Amino acid sequence: KANVKKIAEKTYQLSTDYKSDMKVPGNIYLDDILFKNLEEDVFEQIANVACLPGIQKYSLAMPDCHYGYGFCIGGVAAFDEKTGVISPGGVGFDINCGVRLLKTNLTKKDVDSNLKGLLQEIFKNVPSGLGSKGKIKITKNEIDNVLEEGVDWASSEGYAWKNDYRHIEEHGKMKNADASLVSDNAKKRGLPQLGSLGSGNHFLEVQYVDEIFDENAAKAYGVEKDQVVLMIHTGSRGLGHQICADYLRYMESASKKYNIKLPDRQLACAPISSEEGMRYFNAMSAGANYAWVNRQLVTNWIRESFEQVFKMSAEDLEMDIIYDVAHNIAKKEQHIIDGKMKNVIVHRKGATRAFGPGHDEIPSEYVKIGQPVIIPGDMGTASYLMHGTEKAMNETFGSTAHGAGRALSRVQALKLYKGNEVQEKLQKKGILVLADSKGVIAEECPEAYKDIETVANVCNDSGISLKVAKMRPMGVVKG
Ligand code: 5GP
Ligand code: MN
Ligand code: MN
Repeated sequence: KANVKKIAEKTYQLSTDYKSDMKVPGNIYLDDILFKNLEEDVFEQIANVACLPGIQKYSLAMPDCHYGYGFCIGGVAAFDEKTGVISPGGVGFDINCGVRLLKTNLTKKDVDSNLKGLLQEIFKNVPSGLGSKGKIKITKNEIDNVLEEGVDWASSEGYAWKNDYRHIEEHGKMKNADASLVSDNAKKRGLPQLGSLGSGNHFLEVQYVDEIFDENAAKAYGVEKDQVVLMIHTGSRGLGHQICADYLRYMESASKKYNIKLPDRQLACAPISSEEGMRYFNAMSAGANYAWVNRQLVTNWIRESFEQVFKMSAEDLEMDIIYDVAHNIAKKEQHIIDGKMKNVIVHRKGATRAFGPGHDEIPSEYVKIGQPVIIPGDMGTASYLMHGTEKAMNETFGSTAHGAGRALSRVQALKLYKGNEVQEKLQKKGILVLADSKGVIAEECPEAYKDIETVANVCNDSGISLKVAKMRPMGVVKG
């Protein structure tokens, strides 16, 4: 780690001396302990991204970064629209994996006595598990509308409230999405899975608000102490995975065609302005729309589950969306670089958009505060609601962490922990866990993730997002 220096509070810089083709330095948000524990491979991945054509300012890594396919998880990079590239490895396999937070007007006390029944109802109503199938039947033609219309499709089918779209990043629809660029194979995988949670890291969590850090922001977001909220974490299922796999192969030949020198084959990419680059962007956007519909269907069934258990309408329970963020996506955005507004493609791979106050993509009720940022921790500890900042706009292209980040691989966690024991230990803490398999509970135990407090503090202290509220888990459905 000879070429890494601390340059500011909780900020380290990897100098361009680290690797000969680096065009920009790498900036990494860490505290001293995270820094000490970070694998050398991650520095290598940050440096590799810094070698790609058209990269702007810095190759970035968020505090929850760890090793990934090509780009590290927690990697953020922006490329010039004219000279830069787009890379599927900078988005990830689960296109538009993301998190949605729903509010309720119930308190912890209201839900405590009904928790088990509520969790079982949710578990019954939302299909989960490996290869799980959704409950809705759509035709092969209809899937194209899902892919191109996103949440607008869900609204027209009666799965969304009139104003839901306003509290979703991109309003739940990438307008450039093109279903004709998604393979039949990807659609075939996506058809039966629409409206399902998936497995492993994906979850539905009943949480209560344990602490408020910023009263003003909390009020704007509609959260207060002891309130019950719901966190939904899922993505584009087999469809997104297949789009990524299809286009990785396509990008390998494009990289050769355009003579792009790749420091790592997994960074296969094409110029943003090329036919190949545009096709991937429009196919990825279709995958992103599928993921938003997926989270919308899950939302619909969670609302219905609450109605069943509390014998009240979801409207009367005020189950509005606080916000929905994507954490695996590439976006066309404008950022100020060297004092000038520039069009760039921002890749966020295991990173959350964190636009600061005043940005025109933030709903008017939140615009003075900044964009809501949702950062899950783990099923035994806590999760955070934060807000985007001007500092993030200046330093990270408006980005921050997306979770605690894995500390142990699935295999390591399975060796060290037993599902039954993890479940019992959590139950003693008052946290109910329902899962499709005991193995998943072991793989996903709290110890498998880094300390969320540390990650939230690094975000907060470096200023790339600021704490609004901390939530604690009450009940978890694991896929
Ligand atoms: P990823 O999308 O990278 O798999 O996961 C995002 C983050 O979700 C992880 O880094 C982890 O901190 C968090 N996470 C995973 N499982 C759970 C869970 O069951 N409950 C909560 N609250 N967070 C989780
Ligand atoms: Mn995912
Ligand atoms: Mn995710």
